[in-house]
Amino acid sequence: MRILFLGAPGSGKGTQAENASDLFGIPTISTGAILRESIKAETEAGKAAKVFTDAGKLVPDEIMIAIIKDRLVQADCESGFLLDGFPRTIPQAEALDAMGVDIDVVVNIHVDDATIIERMSGRRVCPDCGSTYHLIYNAPKSIGNCDKCGAKLSIRDDDLPEVVKKRLDIYHEQTEPLIQYYTRKGKLKTVIGQEEVADTTHLTVETITKFGKAKFRAEDL
Ligand code: ADP
Repeated sequence: MRILFLGAPGSGKGTQAENASDLFGIPTISTGAILRESIKAETEAGKAAKVFTDAGKLVPDEIMIAIIKDRLVQADCESGFLLDGFPRTIPQAEALDAMGVDIDVVVNIHVDDATIIERMSGRRVCPDCGSTYHLIYNAPKSIGNCDKCGAKLSIRDDDLPEVVKKRLDIYHEQTEPLIQYYTRKGKLKTVIGQEEVADTTHLTVETITKFGKAKFRAEDL
């Protein structure tokens, strides 16, 4: 099963991808998380990417396509994967098609801009394992620490308000055209992001089960 998540920054697609990954037992490939790891490790690619991510800009297509090509050939992707954060531009989507990756369903998480701006201010991330939280909508069990690994949570540089505004503009300009791209292919299904994370998860799981040929048992929810 190959699932792709689309959505504006702050739409909650990362959280939904993590939840779906646990429920369906397939890995999430999050390009944002891969980039943050390379930035933290101060690799050459990481240093090059940091200039763009800190400014709220997209990392150039050639870098992202190379990262995805390396990742999708790894053994854990054999029985499927969830893509979170890729493709983000039409050339990236075309590259995925050229790689012969057949997507079962594209889940488009829709949330309006005003709600996103309000949400971003509460977002926290684990610098060690990459898990994401929200102080109101998806609070960690112990305030300030990661549920999974216990590390101290932090605010991403690119979640600062002025950077968020810029990222939304770029989303509308460069990523939103993918909605039409995948609608034309008959793959797009829109899920309206709900106030409660669990409600969005229900809708997302329903969509994947119905259109993604997934074997899923309701009692697992
Ligand atoms: P969000 O979905 O909230 O924007 P991500 O964690 O997916 O956050 O991505 C963080 C940043 O990493 C993006 O703002 C962008 O700069 C960069 N990035 C991630 N994926 C891509 C991609 N496919 N193409 C270009 N840049 C990317």
